[in-house]
Amino acid sequence: MEFGFTEAQEKLRGEIREFFMKELPEDYEAGFNSMMGKEVQSWWMRLKEKAIEKGYYVPGWPSEYGGSGFTEMEQCILDEEQGHFGVTWPDFLGLHLVAPSLMMFGTEEQKKRWIPPIAKGETVCFEAFTEPNAGSDEANIGCRAEENGDHFVFNGQKVFISGWYKPTWLFTLARTRDIVPKHKGLSLFLIPADLPGISFRPLSTMGGGRQNYVFFDNVKVPKDNLLGQLHFGFYHAMQVFEFERRMTGDAAGGKRLLQELIAFCRETSSNGQPLLENPDIRKNLAKLAVENEVQRLAGWYSAWRFTQREKLGPVPG
Ligand SMILES: Cc1cc2nc3c(=O)[nH]c(=O)nc-3n(C[C@H](O)[C@H](O)[C@H](O)COP(=O)(O)OP(=O)(O)OC[C@H]3O[C@@H](n4cnc5c(N)ncnc54)[C@H](O)[C@@H]3O)c2cc1C
Repeated sequence: MEFGFTEAQEKLRGEIREFFMKELPEDYEAGFNSMMGKEVQSWWMRLKEKAIEKGYYVPGWPSEYGGSGFTEMEQCILDEEQGHFGVTWPDFLGLHLVAPSLMMFGTEEQKKRWIPPIAKGETVCFEAFTEPNAGSDEANIGCRAEENGDHFVFNGQKVFISGWYKPTWLFTLARTRDIVPKHKGLSLFLIPADLPGISFRPLSTMGGGRQNYVFFDNVKVPKDNLLGQLHFGFYHAMQVFEFERRMTGDAAGGKRLLQELIAFCRETSSNGQPLLENPDIRKNLAKLAVENEVQRLAGWYSAWRFTQREKLGPVPG
């Protein structure tokens, strides 16, 4: 299949590219590490303000929520450029996962209250789904949310939760009933990260990333913080994962890294021969290039489906 972008979309892409070329320091190296200090964090906060001012933060969102009223395609063009330059906003999960989820299955009241602060860059959301016994097996979530009057009481633990900045919100899944099959007993929540009983412990990972443990100890969560239908959280989570798949920036960042790796293999020799002339290395680089292209196309396919307002989730075979 052949697809492309309109002239106006290409123009927007060029303007965004120019913005980042002008704003990012010449010696800027893409990527994060767990040592990112306060000074670097405030530099990112200032750059974010400039991007918001230019309309390069949520161009694809409806204007009533603070966007420029373009479509998901323009939003994903922005993401692709950000991925290329290695730009990750402090609230990248609020932008990519939480706000689109609110737009899809939040109540009108929740949309009005929670989306505009995300569009203004005032929030930092963590996606707190994974647990020691629930990674790929999402239905095995053990963190409990017991109904009690006008609130739920949370107890349990999350692990591998990404985040470098102090969070304002936790986007999380919890078990609201015991039932077989297990996936019919989960619910999705958006809860303030500073409720009494929530605590965090840093967890450094091999790639230089900063993940966290999150603990819930008798945390009282108002019922208004339930997002979507009670006990329907597994199905909502599958839609959230579709938003993750449409992060076109990830493939763009990967492509840039691959280009750097190819340049390294061209410039570096072993036994008097450039690495790039080694057939095994060429084969592996080609494999990476194919995987990167598959990721790029999968991202754009998800973006296009979302633009068509089709139901998100697994595509029937
Ligand atoms: C850097 C990093 C950042 C992360 N950030 C977040 C975050 O922000 N929020 C969050 O909620 N989580 C986050 N995670 C967690 C991530 O989503 C989980 O690691 C992922 O869901 C896999 O779960 P697991 O690690 O428990 O592996 P497991 O589920 O135990 O899987 C281990 C291996 O078994 C394979 N496997 C599992 N089940 C099957 C099966 N049925 N058939 C065949 N193979 C199978 C898997 O493919 C994998 O290779 C992060 C993880 C990392 C490493």
